[in-house]
Amino acid sequence: MAELYPWLHAKFKQLQALAGNDQLAHALVFSGNAGIGKRAMAEALAALLLCKTPLLTGACGSCKSCLLRLAGNHADLLLLYSDTQHIGVDAVRQLTRFTQGAAQQHGVKVVIIPAADTMTEAAANALLKTLEEPPAGCYIMLITQNYSQLSATIRSRCQQWQLSAGNAEQSRQWLSQQHNQPLPPFLLEYCQGSPLKALRLLKTNTADSLASVLTLLDDYFSGQLEHNSAVKQLDGTTELAGILGFYLRQRLSTPFEFQRQHTLLTAYQRWCRDATQIIGQNSALALSGLLTELTPLLHHQEAKWKS
Ligand SMILES: [Zn+2]
Repeated sequence: MAELYPWLHAKFKQLQALAGNDQLAHALVFSGNAGIGKRAMAEALAALLLCKTPLLTGACGSCKSCLLRLAGNHADLLLLYSDTQHIGVDAVRQLTRFTQGAAQQHGVKVVIIPAADTMTEAAANALLKTLEEPPAGCYIMLITQNYSQLSATIRSRCQQWQLSAGNAEQSRQWLSQQHNQPLPPFLLEYCQGSPLKALRLLKTNTADSLASVLTLLDDYFSGQLEHNSAVKQLDGTTELAGILGFYLRQRLSTPFEFQRQHTLLTAYQRWCRDATQIIGQNSALALSGLLTELTPLLHHQEAKWKS
C-alpha cells in the first residue's frame, strides 16, 4: 500500500489494533489542521477495513477488494462530496441508501465525508440516525479542520481522532526528503506545523515569495523602505493576509503594550474583513491605509525576520 506519512504511523497502528480486535468505533472523526493528512489517514484506514488479506502494515494492495479500490471502483466505498459549498440533505440520503444496501465484497462498507463541517443543519440531522445505529460492518469517517463547527449531536456520536504532525524536527526531515532545497526557517510555524501544507508552498515557490514579503515588511517597518514602494510591492501578493497576520503575531510575541496590541489587531482584522466584503475595493489604497495605521505601532519594536 502507499506509504502513510510518518507522523501518522502511531495513530494508524492504534486504529489498526482496534480494528483487529473488532473494537473500532463505527463513527469516527479525523480532525486537525489543513495539510496534516486527515484524508490520507481516512483512506488508509478504509483500505485496511476493505482489504480481504490485510498485512501488518495495512491493506495488501493486491486482493480483489484492494484492486477495485485502487481502480477507484469499489462498490463498498463511498466518498461523500458535494457539488456546492455545503453537504446537503440529498448527499446524506445517498449515504443512507448506500449504508443500507448489502456489501459487495466481504461485508464491510466505508463512507468518508471530507469537509464534514460543511454539512447543513438538515444534513447533519439526517445523518444522526445512521451514526447512532450504523448497519453492521459499516464505518463512517468524518474529516474536518474545524471540529468545533460540527454540531454537538454529531460530535457526541463519533469518536474523535485529533491528528497532528510529530515534532518539528521530524517534519523538517520529511520535508527535506520530499523537497531537495533548504527549508525557510519560518515556514513550518507559518503552516501551523503541517508538513503537507509546507510542502505545497515549497513546490509552488510560494514559500520564497512569502519569505520576501517578511523581509519587505521588516524593511518597511524599520524605515528602510519607502511607503509607496512597499504598497506597490506588497499589493496583490499571494497569501498576503496570511503572511501579514503571521508577521504581526510574531512581532506581538515580544513584550508589547496591551493598548497598542489591541489597536494593531483591530486594524489588521478590519483590513482582512474589508478585503472580502467590499466589492470593487481599491486594494492598494486599503493596504496603504493599513500600513499607515500600523507604522507608529511597530516602529520602535525590534525586527525579527531581518536577515
Ligand atoms: Zn487487500
